[in-house]
Amino acid sequence: MSTKDSKSDDITTPLPHMDEPGGASTNYLDILREYWGYDSFRGIQEQIITSIGEGRDTLGLMPTGGGKSICFQVPTLAMKGLCLVITPLISLMKDQVAQLRLRGIKAETIHTGMVRDDVVRILDNCILGDYRFLYVSPERIGSDLFRTKLERMGNICMICVDEAHCISQWGYDFRPAYQQIAELRNLIPYPVPVLALTATATPKVVDDIQEKLWFKEKNVISMSFERKNLIYVVRQTENKTEEMLHILKSVPQGSAIVYTRSRRLTTELAQLLQSHGIMAESYHAGLTTAERDLRQINWTKDRSRVMVATNAFGMGIDKPDVRLVIHYNLPDSIEAYFQEAGRAGRDGNASYAVLLYNPKDNYTLSRRVSETYPEKEYIRETYENISCYYEIGVGDGRNTTHLFSIDDFCRKFKQFPVQVNSALKLLNNAGYIDYREENDMKSRLRFILRKEELYRLHEGSKDMEMLMDAILRNYTGVFADFVLIEEMHLSHLTGLDADYIYDLLKEMAARRIIDYIPHNSSPTITYVLPRVDTERIMLSEDVYELRKEDYQHRINKMLEYASSTTRCRSRMLLNYFGEKAQDECGQCDVCLARKKKGINVSEMERTHERIIEILEDGEWHSITELNNINIRRELLDDVLRQMTEENEIETKRSKIRKREE
Ligand SMILES: [Zn+2]
Repeated sequence: MSTKDSKSDDITTPLPHMDEPGGASTNYLDILREYWGYDSFRGIQEQIITSIGEGRDTLGLMPTGGGKSICFQVPTLAMKGLCLVITPLISLMKDQVAQLRLRGIKAETIHTGMVRDDVVRILDNCILGDYRFLYVSPERIGSDLFRTKLERMGNICMICVDEAHCISQWGYDFRPAYQQIAELRNLIPYPVPVLALTATATPKVVDDIQEKLWFKEKNVISMSFERKNLIYVVRQTENKTEEMLHILKSVPQGSAIVYTRSRRLTTELAQLLQSHGIMAESYHAGLTTAERDLRQINWTKDRSRVMVATNAFGMGIDKPDVRLVIHYNLPDSIEAYFQEAGRAGRDGNASYAVLLYNPKDNYTLSRRVSETYPEKEYIRETYENISCYYEIGVGDGRNTTHLFSIDDFCRKFKQFPVQVNSALKLLNNAGYIDYREENDMKSRLRFILRKEELYRLHEGSKDMEMLMDAILRNYTGVFADFVLIEEMHLSHLTGLDADYIYDLLKEMAARRIIDYIPHNSSPTITYVLPRVDTERIMLSEDVYELRKEDYQHRINKMLEYASSTTRCRSRMLLNYFGEKAQDECGQCDVCLARKKKGINVSEMERTHERIIEILEDGEWHSITELNNINIRRELLDDVLRQMTEENEIETKRSKIRKREE
């Protein structure tokens, strides 16, 4: 088969025309079969692939679990050259690179927490070697090093932007580093198509993404966000803990996630569940990587049933048989809720997404606005205090990085962590500092002594010898350069305790056998600019007022969802994402309550149609006119209420008319 030959040429031989990347062949299905073993594409995968393969900038909207990676991996393999993938999810990056390598495809990754030497080596590999994928975290693309190397690459065939909503100020997860992506297009001397992918975006964000990435023309390919097997429920309750227990007991089988806002609550609720005989783990960003991994594995392998977690749990989790996701607290946006709830039922079987709601939540949620957007004066004061804390004078400090302990800082300056965190984020967005709440600096080591010298080393303990042996057997290149190691892994290999291994490595470092940089995950603050006079700190409308308004709007929408008792939940969510759902879902709490009252959905739809017919002329009509429709008053009220909430109609005194689109 000739197509097959030309394709394998593409992949195994060095690129024949390094100056002409791109040039897609269209044997996508063959590629899918050969590398993934699937016989057909799913959903909108093929549409996206064809579009990007034709060289068109493309925005793909697909819910998580829709098979995003196929959308850029298959077309890349059909082209010549290297696909640059920008994603903030380090674990996902590593996972995908490992998967690609298993399939014999050359891929590399550059993320935060790597040493400069490693970055240079990888970038050089990508310039010289026949690599097909380079995964980069958004913070890396702004560096001069990256840009210089990118200009020399000359073999980029496409740019893929994962989690593309992060580029939008109007998105719920804005990341300033994303703003630099479009400029990369200028560094590449020929046109390169951009594929943006996201699982959540409102119509406003969809427009913004395309603009910010300099799309040549608008081109959105999206699939429905409807999840037919997911049953949305809101439970209004005075006692959330009781309700949570009740739900977990009445859905006795399958994995579950309970999302809560606070780290403390994850521990408390997990303990409570355990005391009721339900196997549960807690999970939050304050745990060490090793602890998090272990708990995640326990849950994934069904050794525990419930994961009680903050929103730190979720990225890259792909457990298909989660039957229940409970939200103990309200998230601060529908986007976040939809993402988290959507982790239930990936396997297509019936599953529940339950939101626990107490009218007091209205207050707590509204308070988050002032916590997330503290007064400007407060933000300036925080900047001043931080500079005091690090003893940085006005005009100094540019490009210096400092470890940041928020607790220590708050003790010294009598500030509160939540507000300080928000203030630092805003200073970050305004470009004064680079604030990293979470780093992923793995431990690393290299040998100082040469191999021959090691054999002559006789004074080490037995344990130390065993450890050295394990390192030499399991990590290559330790004599040449720093390599990343994991104390946990070494602990598994040697049977020694991880803390003890840490001590041994410290000792070896003290004796100049190795260089050892221990794991570090504490937050950092980097001064991007020299310290400015506090009064001169500018927080523009874009950074502050507009974002605050938008945040308030998202919170209102979340409260609307939680407090409504008249609108189908699934329909509300779809409407939020700009999708017009035709039918009620028939299974959410609102739909079920209607069924109980004996209101038939199709009856509602007929009523809806009749009302529209009467109001079609756009004129004001008297409400009494609607009584001519021969139906029960109660049903008529229900339909009218829903039409009002969905902005289909407007009312004035006892008159009603259809709202203009
Ligand atoms: Zn419904």
